[in-house]
Amino acid sequence: MKIDHPFQFLRDFLNSKVPEPEHGKMPKYYRRVLGVSNVLLAAMYLMILLLSVIINHHVDWFGIALLVAVILKSALIDEMNMRVNLLVHAVIVTLWCGWYVYIYGWSSGGQHFLIPLLMLIFFSVYVRPLVKVVYFCILIVFRMLLFRYTLSHEPIIAMEQNTMVLFQTVNTLFLFFVTAVNCIVFSTNIQETERQLLIDNQELQHEAETDALTQLPNRRSIYEEMTRYMKENPASQFCVAIADIDFFKKVNDTYGHNCGDYTLQRLTACFRENAGGRYKCGRWGGEEFCFFFPGMNIDDAGTIMRDVNIQVSYMDFEFEGNQFKITITAGVEEYDFRSELIGIIEQADKKLYTGKTTGRNRVIV
Ligand code: GH3
Ligand code: MG
Ligand code: MG
Repeated sequence: MKIDHPFQFLRDFLNSKVPEPEHGKMPKYYRRVLGVSNVLLAAMYLMILLLSVIINHHVDWFGIALLVAVILKSALIDEMNMRVNLLVHAVIVTLWCGWYVYIYGWSSGGQHFLIPLLMLIFFSVYVRPLVKVVYFCILIVFRMLLFRYTLSHEPIIAMEQNTMVLFQTVNTLFLFFVTAVNCIVFSTNIQETERQLLIDNQELQHEAETDALTQLPNRRSIYEEMTRYMKENPASQFCVAIADIDFFKKVNDTYGHNCGDYTLQRLTACFRENAGGRYKCGRWGGEEFCFFFPGMNIDDAGTIMRDVNIQVSYMDFEFEGNQFKITITAGVEEYDFRSELIGIIEQADKKLYTGKTTGRNRVIV
């Protein structure tokens, strides 16, 4: 297995293509994470403002302006596209962090709120990698400058130890909540996407393996099933039959193509009813069907195929008031433990041809 270079992820990240959001709308998970972040931030800003008034007797007008900005941003969330939403969010959070540290000092911990912001930036798949790197650099520089500033400047409001503990508690709780909410929403979204992908893949695989008209396994699917069986049971007997509707073109020409389709579907139902777990049937193409008899010798497979042939000849078909009968011809071949699968099928096909040239409505074993 080829091992990636440890920093290959960085190259992949920088080269990643950015999708356009559907109809320019914000994806649901991003809308959700921004919505919850807005509520949590507004609650925290309000709490800090109230504490500031009660304990420090300080009315923080800029803090109030930022709270109003969060409320406005929350109300206008659907009016702005994802990139504008992120930009506005980043500006408000960064301003608040700066302001909070400016007022209460570095040890107030306001600068930590830049981390969940970073998550929001990197989880936005609709923002270009280079733009994310720019955001990232700005946040680092901002945090460093903020720290540098606090080294040479005392906070505007010097808090007592107890007050500091209270502010730290509020701060820490909200920081952890905001971070946890981001993680929950993003990881749930990844799980949901993976689940949907799995379902889509299963549906695609079913479509790729199934004939649309009859819902039988198609040629590739039944061929793969037989190949798999041979590989997994190298010492096991099996038989293959190819069956073809007699004069099917006449059905189409006389009663129309829809009647031909109806005939194919009725026949399929008959093949299914008679299978009883003894054979697998697939649509080989056009009006030809392939029967696979795992673990069975040619005598038994021939008997079953003859039975199917008789059942078909007994069937009464009626389509749009027209009644008619059909017959099938089939060739059965047994695995000889030497030939390739394709060779066995060719032999069955040759026998089918013999059946066609010797009167049809028969099974050649
Ligand atoms: P034979 O007894 O020699 O097999 O005669 P035939 O008329 O059955 O054979 P031929 O190969 O001449 O014609 C087969 C016809 O099957 C022609 C084609 O239009 C029809 N057919 C193949 N697939 C479909 C299908 O999905 N729906 C319908 N309605 N007809 C189909
Ligand atoms: Mg044919
Ligand atoms: Mg035919």
